[in-house]
Amino acid sequence: MKTLFRFFVLFLLLTLHLQLFAQGSYALVIHGGSGNISREWMSPEREAAYLAKLSEALEAGEAILKTGGSSMDAVVAAIMILEDSPLFNAGKGAVFNFEGRNELDASIMDGKTLQAGAVAGITNIKNPITAARKVMENSPHVMLTGRGAEHFAFEEGLEAVDPSYFFDQARWDQYREFLRDNTPQLRGDTYPDMKMGTVGAVALDMEGNLAAATSTGGMTGKRFGRIGDSPIIGAGTYANNQACAVSATGHGEYFIRNVIAYDIAAQMMYAGKSLHEAANDNVMQKLKEQGGNGGIIAVDRQGNVAMPFNTTGMFRGYIKSTGETEVKIFE
Ligand code: ASP
Repeated sequence: MKTLFRFFVLFLLLTLHLQLFAQGSYALVIHGGSGNISREWMSPEREAAYLAKLSEALEAGEAILKTGGSSMDAVVAAIMILEDSPLFNAGKGAVFNFEGRNELDASIMDGKTLQAGAVAGITNIKNPITAARKVMENSPHVMLTGRGAEHFAFEEGLEAVDPSYFFDQARWDQYREFLRDNTPQLRGDTYPDMKMGTVGAVALDMEGNLAAATSTGGMTGKRFGRIGDSPIIGAGTYANNQACAVSATGHGEYFIRNVIAYDIAAQMMYAGKSLHEAANDNVMQKLKEQGGNGGIIAVDRQGNVAMPFNTTGMFRGYIKSTGETEVKIFE
């Protein structure tokens, strides 16, 4: 009897310890887009600039997580750094559509409440991710587009900019190149590799809550009005405390048709797959077989991280409360 009692006490202590340990851990994963990035294009200076910006975004998010802040705040902080950098296809430095304009998409989801917010086709809000969050928190809707989204964002007091703020010479050159190579019949067709640089973040906070967010300029030469996967909950972004948080990057149409972000969570919830199995099944098999270029980042409640991509590279990185960290572009 005594032994049984001792065993019981030991078991209780162990469970308590495990729970405290799990509650104290956090993880943040980010991406800055995937694509068939050539090694020649990636000069050492360019690579250093990308890695430095990714590290800065990780640090900004981690500063929030390690002081007990929420995963929602962490993903927004990380994304704003990347949106403000012309290196990435989100916020400043977004790609141009067929008419030579920037149309921005973003979305965010809270894994605890399953609340979500998104904006699509906006042209004058400095940080689209903040607009997506406002839609989630201060409107009864999930997605607002175009003028309606912009009007709402102004009302919410978000920083507005002239559309010319998003201009970046390198993106403009890419757009001119796109036009040169495209006949009018191909209008609206896109070059998948000219879109590289969508940004995303997923996080687990010390309370055990997951969040996911994605922001993009879409794809170079897209038809005006085209909306990709990034602002679509379940396609480009999904978070659910029962499973994981996911942010995608790649040829959006494939991610929409395959409902990639939700499918990863669903495979975990309904088929009992691990984060890695579910993520790889979607990116390395399903998408690859269809010719859907891209990758995803994901984190689960245990802080496991997955970052598969089927292109030559994906700007990415993660940091965990254990001190484990990595920032990478290629394999
Ligand atoms: N998924 C984005 C889109 O299709 C582009 C990207 O991630 O590179 O709009």
